[in-house]
Amino acid sequence: MQPNFENTAIAFELKTDSQLERAYFLFKMIANEPLVKIGTAMTNFAIKAHLPVEGLIRATVFDHFCGGVSEEDCLSVIDNMYTKGVYSILDYSAEGKEVDNQFDSALEKTLEILDFVKEKDAIPFAVFKPSGFGRFKLYEKVSAGVELTESESAEWGRLVNRYEKVCKKAHDLEVALLIDAEESWMQNAADDLALQMMRKYNKEKAIVYNTFQMYRWDRMNYLKKLHKIASEENFKIGAKVVRGAYMEKENERAQEKGYTSPICKNKKETDANFDAAVAYSMEHLEHIAIFAGTHNEESSLKLISLMQERNLDPSDDHIWFGQLFGMSDHITYNLAAHGYNAVKYVPYGPVRDVMPYLIRRAEENTSVAGQTSRELALIQKERKRRKLDS
Ligand SMILES: Cc1cc2nc3c(=O)[nH]c(=O)nc-3n(C[C@H](O)[C@H](O)[C@H](O)COP(=O)(O)OP(=O)(O)OC[C@H]3O[C@@H](n4cnc5c(N)ncnc54)[C@H](O)[C@@H]3O)c2cc1C
Repeated sequence: MQPNFENTAIAFELKTDSQLERAYFLFKMIANEPLVKIGTAMTNFAIKAHLPVEGLIRATVFDHFCGGVSEEDCLSVIDNMYTKGVYSILDYSAEGKEVDNQFDSALEKTLEILDFVKEKDAIPFAVFKPSGFGRFKLYEKVSAGVELTESESAEWGRLVNRYEKVCKKAHDLEVALLIDAEESWMQNAADDLALQMMRKYNKEKAIVYNTFQMYRWDRMNYLKKLHKIASEENFKIGAKVVRGAYMEKENERAQEKGYTSPICKNKKETDANFDAAVAYSMEHLEHIAIFAGTHNEESSLKLISLMQERNLDPSDDHIWFGQLFGMSDHITYNLAAHGYNAVKYVPYGPVRDVMPYLIRRAEENTSVAGQTSRELALIQKERKRRKLDS
């Protein structure tokens, strides 16, 4: 039987009435673009001025989009979701770090989380962001093929070492590890590192997963190229397939610097590219494991159909569906109710440090046409069902 994404009773089963009301209020605010702009500016100011706004942020956006301030703090959220068969990925979301000791502490955190993942069935993957392990500008330089100074080469060596440590530990513990993707002008270097790690640690199965941003028109060829390398050298590809989160930035930079934008011409082309990458991976499951990170219902249903055509068990561990905590519960919970591997990225970290993440979520929900109105319509439907709608 096909999951029904309209089933709001399943989607919001874990939400109390007051949590549902908070979500309704929050998405109503987020739908208002001027309000998000003003709210963002005021919050940035308040945080910088050390005004006591953390309590307010925590009780509103933070608790809706984040699991907590520490791993332990997230445990009740994780355990609760797991009662409905929904898995979690702890995503340490402190951003904008620039110096070595911060990268080292991000590494330590990821290493700790790997132990956590090993212990807990509810957490199937660990994750890190390339810019969490090294300076963005350094990735950028390496991506552009610019020669590094002596001290930069040493810095790059330390960065590679962090990749090496975390991927080796993931391999030794047999815990899968996702690597997020970021802006295209730093991604070549990150992709090359991910490839090195897959070569080394994905010999028996997919441990290291790189992310393919399918809003980039060149990514389908990249996936095919990587598949060819993997078949020849006999290792597995872990493919986290997403549409991509930095579209405006990518287009603006391309225009500013006068090069062709790496982004597909329109949404329809991105959608087709995403679905093509998933279909291609499904045809090559002997070499590729898929993590479909999407809130798109159609793409999720297409993947389900492909699984059904191949008579695959919904819980086949080569195929995962991922959504962000606080968004698209109608997809996650209905998938899980039908036995599919559905997992939430659960961001966490000190309130101040996760602000850039929270602001991105608010802006994304404002700018992604349809996303907020869909969330609101579903919450409204559930409010009616529970007769909260007065
Ligand atoms: C579990 C998970 C992990 C993620 N990890 C990453 C990551 O590592 N790196 C990353 O960049 N993003 C990541 N994302 C975010 C993701 O890339 C998307 O921004 C987000 O999920 C919205 O896309 P969607 O597939 O859910 O669906 P939709 O809402 O159907 O699609 C919206 C997306 O379509 C694309 N799009 C919209 N308009 C246009 C247009 N005019 N032309 C071309 N393309 C357009 C954009 O990518 C936009 O974000 C992740 C998302 C999830 C759920």
